[in-house]
Amino acid sequence: MPTPEREPQAQVERLFFALWPDDALRQQLTQYRDTLAAHADGRPIPAENIHLTLAFLGRTDARQRACVETMANAIQRPPFELQLNRSGYWPRPRVLWIAPAEMPEALTALAADLHAAAEGCGLKLDARPYRAHITLMRKLAHPPKDTDLQPLNWPVDRFVLMRSTILPQGMKYEVVREWKLAEK
Ligand code: ATP
Ligand code: MG
Repeated sequence: MPTPEREPQAQVERLFFALWPDDALRQQLTQYRDTLAAHADGRPIPAENIHLTLAFLGRTDARQRACVETMANAIQRPPFELQLNRSGYWPRPRVLWIAPAEMPEALTALAADLHAAAEGCGLKLDARPYRAHITLMRKLAHPPKDTDLQPLNWPVDRFVLMRSTILPQGMKYEVVREWKLAEK
């Protein structure tokens, strides 16, 4: 008997909105990671994966993706400067991160817009308050010692939609779309 034809699988992707460093900043962040790694025993994030999550959408179907993209088209927020001047450690996930000591208003607003957009498209997001950070190491064996690092300045003029794929060798991230920040 022939196998009955299956419904075409609705396309589902694992998506998140992020700030994605350019090559020069990525190199600086990688150096920052390596300086911190000298004082910490853990698994460094691969250089090509370093990012700052704005809103994690998780499993997203094609209709939801089209919806969030339309909502993102309507976002009007200005470019801003992000000072990465604080490093820290979360003991539960055992991750080492850097973050801005002060959240720029434009970043708070952008992340809030994206969370609202995703929820408006029927996606369920993490209910915990948003905390901007860049994870640089995972699975630390011990809390790291305090390390003095030069603050990094990130002139942010765009945000991206990323696809995350789980591969045997680890996570793969791809930029699927980019939006320029502009106050209209
Ligand atoms: P892994 O899951 O293997 O640790 P990862 O966390 O880097 O890898 P994803 O799980 O695809 O990869 O997550 C992509 C980004 O979204 C990461 O920055 C992650 O910290 C963040 N993220 C994942 N889940 C959530 C969540 N429930 N709420 C907020 N941010 C999340
Ligand atoms: Mg994860």
